Amino acid sequence: MIVPALTGRFPLTAGSSIQDILHAARQHLGMKVAFVSEFVGGRRVFRYVDCGTGERLIEVGGSDPLEESYCHWVAEKKLPELIRDPAEHPFTRHLAATKAVPVGAHISVPIRLRDGELFGTFCCFSQEPDRSLTERDLATMHAFAQVAGAQIQVAIDGRREKEAKHTRIRAILDAGNFDIVHQPAVRIDCGRVEFVEALARFRSEPVRPPNEWFEEATEVGLAAELETLVTGRALQTLEVIPETVSLSVNISPAMLAHGDLCDRLRSALPHRLILEITEHKAVGCYQALRDSLAPLRSRGLRLAIDDAGAGYSSFRHILELRPDIIKLDMSLCRGLERDSAKRALVSSLLSFSRAVGCEIVAEGVETEAELASLRRIGIMIAQGHLLARPARPVPGEFALAGAA
Ligand code: C2E
Ligand code: MG
Ligand code: MG
Repeated sequence: MIVPALTGRFPLTAGSSIQDILHAARQHLGMKVAFVSEFVGGRRVFRYVDCGTGERLIEVGGSDPLEESYCHWVAEKKLPELIRDPAEHPFTRHLAATKAVPVGAHISVPIRLRDGELFGTFCCFSQEPDRSLTERDLATMHAFAQVAGAQIQVAIDGRREKEAKHTRIRAILDAGNFDIVHQPAVRIDCGRVEFVEALARFRSEPVRPPNEWFEEATEVGLAAELETLVTGRALQTLEVIPETVSLSVNISPAMLAHGDLCDRLRSALPHRLILEITEHKAVGCYQALRDSLAPLRSRGLRLAIDDAGAGYSSFRHILELRPDIIKLDMSLCRGLERDSAKRALVSSLLSFSRAVGCEIVAEGVETEAELASLRRIGIMIAQGHLLARPARPVPGEFALAGAA
């Protein structure tokens, strides 16, 4: 039986371990070729091949019609798993490979998946007959096939999981079923809203934070599409906030290399925009990032490094990109009033920001005590549930309560 679910967009990634198993089986049996095949769409596809240093009789990715393969007829029980000499089995006369390859000794063991479906075969063959092969050799092949089958099952599970993720993200892209909420960053002394941060809220199952959806999209190669869509929607919300207030959007460094996005940002009033680049993501080439940002920054776009101090890319982004704003990770804020080391760190970051001429925003402020500590240190702008939870934007209004 063919397993159509296996013909997905993602390759099997069982890789090197199966290669080692094939090598061991081929050597143990003194055969010329060992391979793992997958039966797909009426063909036998060679997924893993070991020919040692000998002639490459078959290649990974090569295939032949199932009906012409020994493996198929072994799986159909028309041929035995152990063939010492094809001449002993009349059925082999029907198969062109017997003479064309030629096939001599042949041991093929069907690989079945957890649910009993036939994946393909674990197979070794030589071009000459080998009458020394025994039932014990066949039993050894079964053991090898079982180990390889277990590896393939893991790879297939991984591939199916990726397919499911791809389907979920594709559904979001097609339906656009997410919202943008706003959370204000507030000047502590007077309560004035400095900017609002746009945050995505995905309506799909499972319920989980937006960064997890973006990570999943990255895993299945749909990050650029998802971020472009979400950022586009976030930029539209500029219309519902007063002209005196900036909009801050989260963006991955990879997206900034995307021409599409830069065009959108250029036409979306850069002087009212802040781009938040998270510290979690590594930057491949800072120069390329600086180059994409330069024309936007010259038109007033501000750059923020998000989650600074979270312990990921450390301060490299800050030194390389010279942001206008450093957003302190909320872990630095948590219990600030009880932790003198955190206060010392926040205080030194404030000195650093003054020295390089950028602003500090404290994120995730949840208690009056944390806010009071920030104020004492001299941090002037804060964001967090204490001040306002993320909420659906209401034209001309900033709700300093309510949740989304
Ligand atoms: P972030 O940019 O650091 O956003 C701050 C997160 O902290 C938000 O989580 C916000 O809801 C949450 N938060 C705000 N105040 C408090 C507080 O007082 N206490 C606590 N515990 N949390 C608070 P959210 O919305 O779940 O977003 C998580 C992350 O997902 C964001 O972290 C950002 O990295 C990413 N993200 C969200 N929306 C977008 C988007 O549109 N595009 C991109 N690329 N990333 C996004
Ligand atoms: Mg952010
Ligand atoms: Mg943050």
